[in-house]
Amino acid sequence: QRISVSNLLAQVKQRFQLQAERQQLEFTVYEPDDEGTYIVGNRDMVNRILDNLISNAMKYTPAQGHITVCTRILRERIVVTVTDDGIGIPEADLPRVFERFYRVDKGRSRKLGGTGLGLALAREMVERLGGSIAMTSEPDRGTQVKVTFVRALEVQGEA
Ligand code: ATP
Ligand code: MG
Repeated sequence: QRISVSNLLAQVKQRFQLQAERQQLEFTVYEPDDEGTYIVGNRDMVNRILDNLISNAMKYTPAQGHITVCTRILRERIVVTVTDDGIGIPEADLPRVFERFYRVDKGRSRKLGGTGLGLALAREMVERLGGSIAMTSEPDRGTQVKVTFVRALEVQGEA
């Protein structure tokens, strides 16, 4: 299955626009110039991966914060980055956030609710699609998650 990147991003924008407004977050989806670019994968899975990351960004970023989704097209890969300027993650917890049921606790995630499965599932799905996921974060500054997908090669004879 091939998924159009511009299509995917347009839908992502639509799905989260309202929530962003309600939480008074500035949500920006940068669409790549390159129109006819495709990801190899299952659309449901790719949507679920992005939804998990963007929901986290919105959950862990206070009002007036900023969330951006950027896409970089490489020769064989497509890298989508979700960046927020929210509460961030302490260095000691960062290596563990992809574990099932792991939640950073400073009283913070307790009141926000959740099971601690979102990132574990996102990583499983990304890896099943042949990609990878990486996170960097700094407390009180924000978090960046980078997901890499496999790019569909141009089909010969197709415009
Ligand atoms: P669920 O996604 O299952 O509803 P959750 O959001 O707590 O629950 P994960 O998405 O797996 O679980 O994230 C694990 C933990 O990593 C979170 O509890 C939170 O402490 C931390 N975390 C994840 N994303 C961010 C982010 N963008 N900013 C700050 N902390 C984050
Ligand atoms: Mg989550």
